[in-house]
Amino acid sequence: MDISLNRRKLLTAGGVAAALVPKAAAAAAPPTPAGFGPMSVRPTDPRYESLLRGNNFRFVGRPDEIRVVGSTDQVVRAVSDAVRSGRRVAVRSGGHCFENFTADPAVRMLLDLAPMDAVGFDADRGAFAVQPGATLGHVYKTLFKGWGVTIPAGGCPDVGAGGHFAGGGYGPLSRRYGSVVDHLDAVEVVVVDRNGTARAVVASREPDDPNHDLWWAHTGGGGGNFGVVTRYWLRTPGTSQLLPPAPSQELACLVIWPWEQMTESDFGKLMRNFGTWHERNSAPGSPYAGLYAILMPTHRSAGSFQLFIQIDAGIPNANALVSAFVKEVTAGVTVKPILNDRRDDALVAFDHLAGRW
Ligand SMILES: Cc1cc2nc3c(=O)[nH]c(=O)nc-3n(C[C@H](O)[C@H](O)[C@H](O)COP(=O)(O)OP(=O)(O)OC[C@H]3O[C@@H](n4cnc5c(N)ncnc54)[C@H](O)[C@@H]3O)c2cc1C
Repeated sequence: MDISLNRRKLLTAGGVAAALVPKAAAAAAPPTPAGFGPMSVRPTDPRYESLLRGNNFRFVGRPDEIRVVGSTDQVVRAVSDAVRSGRRVAVRSGGHCFENFTADPAVRMLLDLAPMDAVGFDADRGAFAVQPGATLGHVYKTLFKGWGVTIPAGGCPDVGAGGHFAGGGYGPLSRRYGSVVDHLDAVEVVVVDRNGTARAVVASREPDDPNHDLWWAHTGGGGGNFGVVTRYWLRTPGTSQLLPPAPSQELACLVIWPWEQMTESDFGKLMRNFGTWHERNSAPGSPYAGLYAILMPTHRSAGSFQLFIQIDAGIPNANALVSAFVKEVTAGVTVKPILNDRRDDALVAFDHLAGRW
């Protein structure tokens, strides 16, 4: 079987049945001990309406069944059932999809992986194992408390690893440590072969892994395209440290401007300064590599908009770096902010990585 799939072939294949993996290489990881489910929730079930909804209420599907699963084996069984009955299946982990991918009317079975949320160290693989239902907040806290390490993932604590990692995953530490998938060692995926048989396979970053292309497809290709991810393994390549050390404390700065007084000229300067600063200060080795900022020009109806800055408080001169950044971004801007606040106390890193003010 041809496994030299390129990105186009994989992307156009679409759906759970897409990934073509040679039978001989289909080494499934040990199954997760079943502690939950499966639970089949249908439209007459009182839980149905609330389980339907993800983070974006604009899109709400109407599948025949929501299958809430607790193990890789249960995912294999659910996908087999969907294939056998010709139903389109979609998978949800954290429910933070911006689009209608899991709520499309064509989806007849929605797989809910939220109960698969274990985070830990897998000694056999020498890497951290994260199940897709784990939220970023849970991942940060577990890695921080258990090992003092972290990943450069996003700022919303309720986003799920399932969709976030497959899409690349970036956040406050990304200018320093890359995207989450720069640390992706392997992935366990439930795929379907040409005969319609579902099974779990492991695909790793090892170049001689026959499933290497399937691993590559999960380094930014996006969720819902190549199969159902049932586990991610994370380990920083080419270094003895398993994952980046977690900052022990973060310094955060919040600047808020009122829309009412904002002029077109000042707004233009802010946007331009922000972009120019990033053009000048994003080379590898930049002293500003640890500084992450988001300028959020929300709609006028919100009343104000903000610049949010985060930096590892342990970086020498962290405070001065933030001051220099704010000075450059606000150069020539005459409208005064209604808030310009800085905090470096009582915020441990895992809380702050999750974007709390
Ligand atoms: C409030 C908010 C803040 C965000 N902040 C950031 C950020 O700081 N950085 C960043 O990089 N992104 C950010 N995102 C984007 C977020 O990473 C993506 O929307 C991500 O896909 C959400 O994953 P999920 O598992 O929570 O969502 P879901 O809705 O469960 O899934 C999203 C997509 O991935 C697929 N999918 C989910 N689980 C699996 C699985 N186990 N196997 C295969 N496919 C799966 C789904 O089918 C769907 O297509 C943010 C999104 C929101 C809503």
